[in-house]
Amino acid sequence: MKTVRTRAELEQSLGGVDRKRVGFVPTMGALHAGHLSLVKRAKEECGTVVVSVFVNPTQFNDPKDLENYPRDEKRDLELLGEAGADVVFMPGVAEMYPEPDTRVFEFGELDKVMEGATRPGHFNGVAQVVSKLFAMVRPAKAFFGEKDFQQIAIVKAMVEGLDEKPEIVPCPIVREADGLAMSSRNTLLTPEHRAAAPKIYKAMSEGVGKMGEMTPAEVERFVMDTINSEPLLEVIYFKIVDALTLKPVENWADSVAIQGCAAVRAGEVRLIDNIRFV
Ligand code: AMP
Repeated sequence: MKTVRTRAELEQSLGGVDRKRVGFVPTMGALHAGHLSLVKRAKEECGTVVVSVFVNPTQFNDPKDLENYPRDEKRDLELLGEAGADVVFMPGVAEMYPEPDTRVFEFGELDKVMEGATRPGHFNGVAQVVSKLFAMVRPAKAFFGEKDFQQIAIVKAMVEGLDEKPEIVPCPIVREADGLAMSSRNTLLTPEHRAAAPKIYKAMSEGVGKMGEMTPAEVERFVMDTINSEPLLEVIYFKIVDALTLKPVENWADSVAIQGCAAVRAGEVRLIDNIRFV
């Protein structure tokens, strides 16, 4: 496994490699089994696997969140070595942004809801960094976790505007044994909030079980009330949406794919999760 920190080193490390065989996994580090599942999937489907580890400042709308974001380079490299990554790209901020990135992306309705509505500028920052990374790595396939469900819709829309479009491969959410979606931010939870957090997935799963007797709006209410009944959790949103357009769903029969997406505050930590309804 090669570790590179500059664009020039990255280009050199991929010098002789056919980009049609390159799989790419962008991450912000503090890696866990969710990230590693993407690396393993990339390994199965691609000859050469590139993983980036970069905490992208432009996607943080809260400076405190950026400052507190967990970082553990040494452990990340150990885990990526075991998982079989071929090249790890760990650039610094100046390497990624030698000039400030002033590009503004247009995503129509996709970034006006859920994470886009509650974290202004977040998806523009995601599009900035992912488009830069795609231009540097030029992969045939890029692997993204469904944990960040809306992010996949944004990245798919973003690549539509690119000349070289990698295939975007969505990968299932990896969970802890108690159901909590794995997240780098879970390490920031107090023991009490960590103990309360599995309620998010539990409530969403119960919501799926209520489909026969409740409308989508009623299930939204039920799931929010169930999560909020845990005093250490506070729902930011829970929306039942069309899985492709992310538009609200009024009746279960209105869409062929329906997803419920949640953001929840657990003390200082903001957690997201989602579940398939239809
Ligand atoms: P992050 O480091 O949080 O930016 O995540 C990097 C990639 O890993 C994104 O595509 C995430 O969706 C994905 N990811 C994060 N957590 C999980 C998880 N629990 N299961 C599957 N993929 C995940």
